[in-house]
Amino acid sequence: MELQAIRSQHPELTTAVDMHLELLALQRRVQGRVTLPMLDLSAETLKRHQIEARPLLRFEDIPLDLSDLRLMVRQTADVLRRYGALEQPDYDKAQTLGRDMQLLATVGNWYRSASDRQLAVAGVASVTGNDLGDDTAIGQVIALAMRPFLSRCAEVLQQRSELANWTHAHCALCGGDPDLAVITPSAERHLICGRCALRWKFESLTCPYCRNSDRSKITSFATTDGKYRVYACDVCQRYLKAYDGRRATRPVMPIVDSVATLPLDAAAMQRGYTS
Ligand SMILES: [Zn+2]
Ligand SMILES: [Zn+2]
Repeated sequence: MELQAIRSQHPELTTAVDMHLELLALQRRVQGRVTLPMLDLSAETLKRHQIEARPLLRFEDIPLDLSDLRLMVRQTADVLRRYGALEQPDYDKAQTLGRDMQLLATVGNWYRSASDRQLAVAGVASVTGNDLGDDTAIGQVIALAMRPFLSRCAEVLQQRSELANWTHAHCALCGGDPDLAVITPSAERHLICGRCALRWKFESLTCPYCRNSDRSKITSFATTDGKYRVYACDVCQRYLKAYDGRRATRPVMPIVDSVATLPLDAAAMQRGYTS
């Protein structure tokens, strides 16, 4: 319903809204069938992972149903292709991947690429030659196909109060980067994982991508209605959008708010920042 409201207010976003409605319908259908994962979330385990900056969910522990995963990969590619969001060669690759015996291994590599990248940022390891990042076309298909499974896992961790002790800029569950944030009524900023939608508290004026905390090098601007805000970093040139919950009439809805803020992406990119 929120997405349909965006469509009537912003006719220029119709295509994006329709595509996301279809993706959402696919995810909903599978998500209802995903079982909850068995996760060791003892205070001790959480503390150890916080110290090591290591995400909690191992690939092996994700409750994946192979036939549902195949379906998600192929149908996600269908939707993206139909809306012109996937080139023909990438579409063909995704269709092949959806039928491939190696699907699990490939998705495992994609999953682990996030924590490998975090370790590289921390200087613990060098970046491996993985071409399955979330910024590649196939990486995007896999990320969308994995959403129903990962967001079920995130539901389990989201309930835990110990999550408040996680201080890193990447996701405590899956190691993914945040791609949206929400400002709470008490003016805290919570990051939202682009892979599993877990939310966790993070310093308001530190760039989550390069950890720059020099306020003079963070450019922040809001939409005229005050609903959304952009934090752009003048060190790494990346930006993060936030839903301002201080004057909001509903909670943050990551997919809806990502679509509603597409004009904000254009504004940020015009100023020379990248997502
Ligand atoms: Zn995550
Ligand atoms: Zn930065």
